Amino acid sequence: MSWLPTKDIDKTCESIAKLSAKDAESYRTFVAMSQSVLPLFVPGLYKPAPPLGQLMAMLDSNDEGRLMLDYMQRSSMDILNHWFESDRLKIHLSRLVSENLQLPDELGTGMGMLLMPGIMHTYGVSQPYGGSGKLTEALIKCVEHHGGEIRLNAEVKKILTSGGKAVGVEMSDGEKIMAKDAVIGSMHPHKLRQFVDGVEEPVLARAEKTTLAPFSLFVCHYDLKQKVEFKAKDPAVKQAIMLTLAATDNMREMQEDYDSLKQGKISKRRLLAGNDESHSDPSRVPPGKGMWHSTGFAPFSLAEGGSSRWDEFCEEFGELQQAGFQNFLTNLTPDNIVARKFCSPMDMVRDSPNSFVGGDVHGLAPYFYQSAGHRPTPDLGQFKVPGIESLYLVGPFMHPGGGVFGAGRATAMVMFEDLGMNFDSTVGGQVDADLPATKTRPAAPKDNIMRLYDDQSDEIMAVNSIDTQGDEIVIKGKTFGTMPLVARLGPADLRKALKLALSPKKLASIVSMLFKR
Ligand SMILES: Cc1cc2nc3c(=O)[nH]c(=O)nc-3n(C[C@H](O)[C@H](O)[C@H](O)COP(=O)(O)OP(=O)(O)OC[C@H]3O[C@@H](n4cnc5c(N)ncnc54)[C@H](O)[C@@H]3O)c2cc1C
Repeated sequence: MSWLPTKDIDKTCESIAKLSAKDAESYRTFVAMSQSVLPLFVPGLYKPAPPLGQLMAMLDSNDEGRLMLDYMQRSSMDILNHWFESDRLKIHLSRLVSENLQLPDELGTGMGMLLMPGIMHTYGVSQPYGGSGKLTEALIKCVEHHGGEIRLNAEVKKILTSGGKAVGVEMSDGEKIMAKDAVIGSMHPHKLRQFVDGVEEPVLARAEKTTLAPFSLFVCHYDLKQKVEFKAKDPAVKQAIMLTLAATDNMREMQEDYDSLKQGKISKRRLLAGNDESHSDPSRVPPGKGMWHSTGFAPFSLAEGGSSRWDEFCEEFGELQQAGFQNFLTNLTPDNIVARKFCSPMDMVRDSPNSFVGGDVHGLAPYFYQSAGHRPTPDLGQFKVPGIESLYLVGPFMHPGGGVFGAGRATAMVMFEDLGMNFDSTVGGQVDADLPATKTRPAAPKDNIMRLYDDQSDEIMAVNSIDTQGDEIVIKGKTFGTMPLVARLGPADLRKALKLALSPKKLASIVSMLFKR
């Protein structure tokens, strides 16, 4: 049986109702709740995170924030069992969270459970036409267009430092490339010692103590003569961007399989996802041909033989995966297979040895103690290495975590600030000019609240009082519709504000605005 959620909440609820009418109603409420906390969460993904303590205090000041605090301490299973009765639905939703290499019964995975449905029904899921490589190609073009140079097969051996400052890099062939302003490194916290000299021991020790995800991925690629055909008859299955091939519809059995992963054992049933993406994107294959691409879950360190056994075990495990696919497909058969390639968790490490440490393709587990301003550690959470000036960190082990969603922006913001450059006018300004506002701003409500909107006409701040207290102006309101905010402005900053806002030209324009509706 296939079950197909889509971005459209009504259609998704209709399909859930076939499993359980009660769950369909609960799901609608759950998604609305999930969407209500997104305004607190999403803006924080693309900028440096505040210190963890400060973030907790902010969350603890309103209902939506307290809900997040509650859910982020729970396990996904706890939340699923509380809300839903259908095992099929629970299996599907738990898979959304385990995509992030988390086990659904781990305490602290509830945050993913709370957020993912809201994200899916607000933004949907997408992938680049032509495959992920097209994204890399586009980035290369962008870098080169702006005068940058990309070097392939060029391995950095060491960050060069002088007087406590990063001044360049040394390549494995001995070449030295000197930096004009700064060095950016995608260095896993476990690898900091290897790349940078002069970092204080406690900083290194804390970095090396960070925790990796409890399991990894096993990837299978097939070139096929013909596109895959599914046993499931619903034609929408072929078009799905994320397709889980659940080998059981019993949550307890699924949990047993997750438990095996944790113990480094080969699970009784396969934990698979995959699709023939050429059904929806023909550019992936030669005309008329097919493909099969699957990511499945696998332990990194095998209970028998550890991670080093993967090279000899890879083909055998690949055969197990293939048998798993065949339960869902009619034509993944020897006569249809042109070529196949299996990539084990050890291959993930070889692909990106200084990011995917321990097979963790998201850098580090997204546990509470290594999240937000504490990701990967409190020392390194501001994208810099204490004691080494002009060295900046980027990568999936930094805030906001692994995945392909523009996370390097936060590092760029920190660098811009340090280099005295204006991020908004350089980056934000250009994007804003190209992107017309997608929504019309709602008419100002008839109340005494001053509202600030973002460039897409969404409210980001509502100010309900501006008072003076001693030498300060005290502004009170709410950000993102929920989070209480108290901002204080002292004399020096007030002078700066006036300087920023009041050139004669701006003054004329501001005064004329007062007469507009
Ligand atoms: C099979 C698989 C499936 C995934 N699926 C998804 C998905 O569906 N959605 C999603 O959002 N994320 C997914 N991810 C995770 C995502 O790919 C990573 O989080 C992301 O690639 C991290 O990007 P990055 O550029 O920071 O690091 P990386 O992609 O690891 O890039 C680091 C680069 O640095 C290079 N490098 C390493 N050491 C050196 C050195 N010493 N000198 C020079 N260069 C060096 C590496 O070769 C590599 O090219 C997946 C990952 C894998 C492996």
